[in-house]
Amino acid sequence: MSTAPSSVLEHEHREIVDAFESFVRRELVPLAADLPESGELPPADLRAYVRTRSARLGFYAADHPEELGGSDLPFSAVVQLHHAAGRSGCPLAPYALAGSDGPSPLLRQGTEEQIKRYLMPLVRGEATRCLALTEPNAGSDAFHLTSTATRQEDGGWLLSGRKTFVSNAGHADFAIVVARAEEGPTAFVVEMDHPRLRIGQRYDGMSGEELFELVLDEVRLPADAVIGGEAGIGAALGNGIDSLSRGRLVVAAMCNGIAEYALRLGVEYARERRSFGERIGAYQHVQEHLVSSRAEVEAAKLLTLACARLVDRGVEAPENAALAKLTASETAVRVVDRSLRVHGATGWVRGHPLEFLYRYVRMMTIIEGTSEIQKVIIARAMGLG
Ligand SMILES: Cc1cc2nc3c(=O)[nH]c(=O)nc-3n(C[C@H](O)[C@H](O)[C@H](O)COP(=O)(O)OP(=O)(O)OC[C@H]3O[C@@H](n4cnc5c(N)ncnc54)[C@H](O)[C@@H]3O)c2cc1C
Repeated sequence: MSTAPSSVLEHEHREIVDAFESFVRRELVPLAADLPESGELPPADLRAYVRTRSARLGFYAADHPEELGGSDLPFSAVVQLHHAAGRSGCPLAPYALAGSDGPSPLLRQGTEEQIKRYLMPLVRGEATRCLALTEPNAGSDAFHLTSTATRQEDGGWLLSGRKTFVSNAGHADFAIVVARAEEGPTAFVVEMDHPRLRIGQRYDGMSGEELFELVLDEVRLPADAVIGGEAGIGAALGNGIDSLSRGRLVVAAMCNGIAEYALRLGVEYARERRSFGERIGAYQHVQEHLVSSRAEVEAAKLLTLACARLVDRGVEAPENAALAKLTASETAVRVVDRSLRVHGATGWVRGHPLEFLYRYVRMMTIIEGTSEIQKVIIARAMGLG
């Protein structure tokens, strides 16, 4: 058993984590062998296979109740699965766990019909969705939305506006669109084949992500398209607080896993590579990269796991998730950078895992709220500003 400080908090969900790691090793690593070395987005049909297979084995949306198709596991177990996916270094492992295209906590607040029609296929991995929140002039400041939702005489809605940087819009079955109603920001379900919902510009991210613009050109929707029914009108960002905390902790866990993987590569390389007649790991400047990384990764893991456990106890303090996400994402960026330094040119070559991670990890300080926004949340909780 590991004697690392974080192992104190890790051992509890060992069985499910071991089973997931075995699934990754036996089934996903061989499937990933044929993927391009550049680490670009795997094909949609392969991602769909991984999702549904993982759901059938009980990993995909494991914290959802069994009656919805999940495994009824605590959130802290899910956080550890995301950690294990990042640590595996297998490019398919993250797709085996529900992310921003999977079951949305907003839909947990949905009506019975919405849960059956939209949430359950997401939990089973049979459908994916996208979240259209960001706008050209409303990114971090999500309360500044200008897309409108206007109530019609028949009780239906008319949505107009533009959304940017929407992940998975090119593959999703439906979109969760947040638009401003008279009562405040409101979340709607919009089928992707709606005739007035158009995909506009495509943005290609630095590590192969595809983001899209969504144009809402007078999208007419029935009254029951509001997530949560009448109670959901004006409540999208309020209900989202819970979902944001969980989403941030999942990102933190992925970052910790990636950092641990990058650190392992750095340590292995430093033990073998020779320079000036010595193994480079014997040089203190190299040790500094790896030892600082070790200390920071352990701290980030402990913080993330402790916050996830608090969520399981019903404590949803947004500043906790912000602390974990800020610490873990900034740590992962630093650790990947340091490990690449330890590898010299070898880590910089296209096809090396660190070359991909260097590009991939950078988005972690932007998604689910930038690092600056996490600091804003923490500062507010400290009574500042
Ligand atoms: C890979 C990826 C996937 C994404 N997926 C989605 C998606 O599926 N759906 C979706 O709706 N959006 C998505 N986004 C958009 C993402 O949510 C926004 O990029 C993010 O919220 C930041 O908004 P912005 O880019 O407009 O930056 P801005 O809000 O314009 O911020 C620019 C800079 O100013 C800083 N800043 C802003 N306000 C403050 C403040 N009050 N105090 C201090 N600093 C501040 C920011 O931290 C940042 O450094 C995605 C983005 C990326 C990169």
